[in-house]
Amino acid sequence: MCGAFITDPLSESIALMPGEASGVDFAKSPVTKGGDSHPFSHAAPMTYDPENIFAKILKGEIPCHKVYEDEQTLAFMDIMPRSMGHVLVIPKAPARNLLDIAADDLAVLITRVQKVALGVKEALGADGITLQQFSESAGGQEVFHIHFHILPRWDGVKMLSHPAPKADMAVLAEQAAKIRAKFA
Ligand code: 5GP
Repeated sequence: MCGAFITDPLSESIALMPGEASGVDFAKSPVTKGGDSHPFSHAAPMTYDPENIFAKILKGEIPCHKVYEDEQTLAFMDIMPRSMGHVLVIPKAPARNLLDIAADDLAVLITRVQKVALGVKEALGADGITLQQFSESAGGQEVFHIHFHILPRWDGVKMLSHPAPKADMAVLAEQAAKIRAKFA
């Protein structure tokens, strides 16, 4: 292992043994450059764009198939579902992703994610749930308002890969109604 990158098969991230030759100059690494005092800050600030698609859904400018709503949270069907009943859960408070959301908002959000996941699982008779959250483009994020993906799973059924085809809106409406009924 000396002087080698270690590949983590689960996360695809690479770790480095301390003190080993890497070929990477950490003084030039994106997480340390820029003169910012926080060692994990990016040189470029991560800003929230109030015109992102989910902000427009929150403002009612774009429609969605809502499954759950409260003062702090909205959950709705993903229009390109990677499993049957794919739901997105977002906070109403603006945040770009896991890297900038306020801790208090995240604490509320994750409890709502659990609540919605239980409702989705029960409504659709799923065997389990896959939970996903992507932060920044490098992490796979495409819409920059934090969201958790709730993907219902059935034994032996694979998820579709991204990008999945756009769903039939009538089917989404039917699934949303079933899930909403669990919170009525
Ligand atoms: P990300 O890669 O940012 O975690 O995922 C964004 C998700 O938003 C994708 O799964 C995509 O299908 C979904 N999405 C993109 N645009 C819309 C939209 O206008 N409405 C809904 N309901 N979902 C969307």
